[in-house]
Amino acid sequence: MSVHIIGGGIAGLCSAWYLQKAGFEVSVIDKGGLTDGCSFGNAGMIVPSHFIPMAAPGVIAQGIRWMFDSKSPFYIKPRLDLDLAQWLWAFYRSCTRENVQRAMPVLRDYHQLSKALFREFAQTEGFDFDFETKGLLMLCKNPKTLREEAEAAEKAHDLGIETQVLNAAGVQLLEPGIRLEAEGGVFYPGDAHLYSNKFMSQLHAALIRQGVAFHSGKTVEGLVAEKGKVSAIALSGGETLAVEQVVLAAGSWSAKLIRQLGIRLLLQDGKGYSITLEQPPLRPSIPTILMEARVAVTPMGQDLRIGGTLEISNLSSRINTSRLEGILEAVPKYYPDLAPETPALDTVWHGFRPCTPDGLPYMGRSARFSNLIFATGHAMMGLSLGPATGKLVSEIFQDKTPSIGMELFRPERFG
Ligand SMILES: Cc1cc2nc3c(=O)[nH]c(=O)nc-3n(C[C@H](O)[C@H](O)[C@H](O)COP(=O)(O)OP(=O)(O)OC[C@H]3O[C@@H](n4cnc5c(N)ncnc54)[C@H](O)[C@@H]3O)c2cc1C
Repeated sequence: MSVHIIGGGIAGLCSAWYLQKAGFEVSVIDKGGLTDGCSFGNAGMIVPSHFIPMAAPGVIAQGIRWMFDSKSPFYIKPRLDLDLAQWLWAFYRSCTRENVQRAMPVLRDYHQLSKALFREFAQTEGFDFDFETKGLLMLCKNPKTLREEAEAAEKAHDLGIETQVLNAAGVQLLEPGIRLEAEGGVFYPGDAHLYSNKFMSQLHAALIRQGVAFHSGKTVEGLVAEKGKVSAIALSGGETLAVEQVVLAAGSWSAKLIRQLGIRLLLQDGKGYSITLEQPPLRPSIPTILMEARVAVTPMGQDLRIGGTLEISNLSSRINTSRLEGILEAVPKYYPDLAPETPALDTVWHGFRPCTPDGLPYMGRSARFSNLIFATGHAMMGLSLGPATGKLVSEIFQDKTPSIGMELFRPERFG
C-alpha cells in the first residue's frame, strides 16, 4: 500500500521511517528543500520533563503581562481574523486544571517512548547526531519562579519523573565550568538533547537510501476528495498525484491546507528564533531553560544554540529585532561571563511551532476522510515527540493498538 506524506519536518520524516519499516511504499512531499524548517534550528531538547501542556492555569495572565513588554518571550501580532479569535477562545477554555491533569500522564508516556526511540536511532548505522542524556536544568533568578518550578517538580515526582530542586550552590555544582547567577533551579536528570540539524539531515539521507521517494521543492496546492476519501494531491507545477493513503504533517501550514476539504483545524504558528555559536570558548555543559526569560540554551556537539520567543505571527518571516534582543540580553543575566553578540539578521534562524489551543497534538485518523491521518500540532515539543509520532502513525496504518493512549489527540476535536 502506498502512503503520501505532506511535510518533511520531523513528524513527516519519522512517519516515513516507521511506515517504510512496516512495508509501506512511502513518498514525502515538501515545499522546501528539507534543510532548514522548524525541525532543524530548534533547541534540540528531548523533554520527558515537559508533561504540562501549553494551555494551563496562569498562562493567560502571564501572557497578557508579556504582551506589553517588547522584549518579552511572547507576543500575538494583533489582527482581525476569525481563525485567531476561535483559537484564542479555545485556548482560554483549555487553560484549566482538568486539561493539565488528563494530559500529564499521556504526555509523559509520549515523551518517554520517543526518548527510547531516539536512543535506538543513535545506535543505528548512519546516525551520529550528538545525542546526550545530560538532563535539563530549569534555571531561576527569582524566588517566586523557583517556588513555581519546585511545585511542578512535585507533580513530576508524582508521575515517576526524577527531579532535583537545587539552591544557588547546587546549580553551580552542576555547572562547574561557567559562573551562574541564579536563585536556584530544578534539574531533570532524565532529559536528553541532540543536534537537531544533524538528526534531520541524517534521517533524510537514510530514508533516501531505503527507497523513500521525495518530492522536494513541490508545494501541495490542492487536495481532491471523493466518496469520503482523499483521492488526489495537486502539486505546484501542475502535477497531480493519485493517492491511496495520506499523512498530513505540514506543521503550521496544516490548517490552511486542510481547509480545502472543509475541515477547520484550530492551529496557530508560534514563531521562535535561534542563533548558533560555533565552538564558543565558554559554554554551559547542560541544556538549560532560563526560566523568567523562557530562553533555551543547548550545547550541541561543540556548538551552543540559544533560542526562544513565541510570537503568533500569521506565518510572517520578519525577524522581530526587539524579541531577538530580549533573547540575547537574557543570557548574561544568568551567565555573567557569556554575552553573545548581536548577529547579522540573515544568520538568525526562525521556525514556526504548530500550536493547538489545548497544547495537545492533532494525531490520528480523520473522522471524515478514511484514508487521511493527521500528525501535527506538537507546538514546543515536536522534536522531542518526533520518533513516537512516527511510530504511532505507523501503528494506526497497521491497525495495531497504539503504544500510548491517543484519545486526547483526536484531530477534529474542535469541530
Ligand atoms: C526556537 C524554537 C525552539 C524549539 N525547541 C524545541 C525543543 O527543544 N524540543 C522540542 O521538542 N521542540 C522544539 N521546538 C518545536 C519543534 O521544532 C516543532 O514542534 C517541530 O519542528 C514541528 O515539526 P513538524 O514536522 O510538525 O513541522 P515542520 O518542521 O514545520 O515541518 C512541516 C513541513 O511541511 C512543509 N509544508 C508545509 N506546507 C506545505 C505544502 N503546502 N506543501 C508541501 N510541503 C508543505 C514545510 O515546508 C515543512 O518542511 C522548537 C521550536 C522553535 C521555533
